[in-house]
Amino acid sequence: MTTKCPRKLLAYYLSDKLDVDDQLIFFAHLDACPECWDEVYNAVKAQHPHYYKTKSRLKMSDKEIKQFEHKERAIEVA
Ligand SMILES: [Zn+2]
Repeated sequence: MTTKCPRKLLAYYLSDKLDVDDQLIFFAHLDACPECWDEVYNAVKAQHPHYYKTKSRLKMSDKEIKQFEHKERAIEVA
């Protein structure tokens, strides 16, 4: 399958120059296009490494998990 990728929208999106209408078009394409998705993902990852360097944090200790569950319950009650 050859999808025509909106390279211009992609470039604009990555430089934060996309207006809302174009964003919607672009996001619709992203949904259908793993290639563009990969490109956006890699670009965002490069721009915001701190979002992604936290892999070790995914390993929560039992104590942290309990705290989290407790917090969730507190929100439900409130
Ligand atoms: Zn694409």
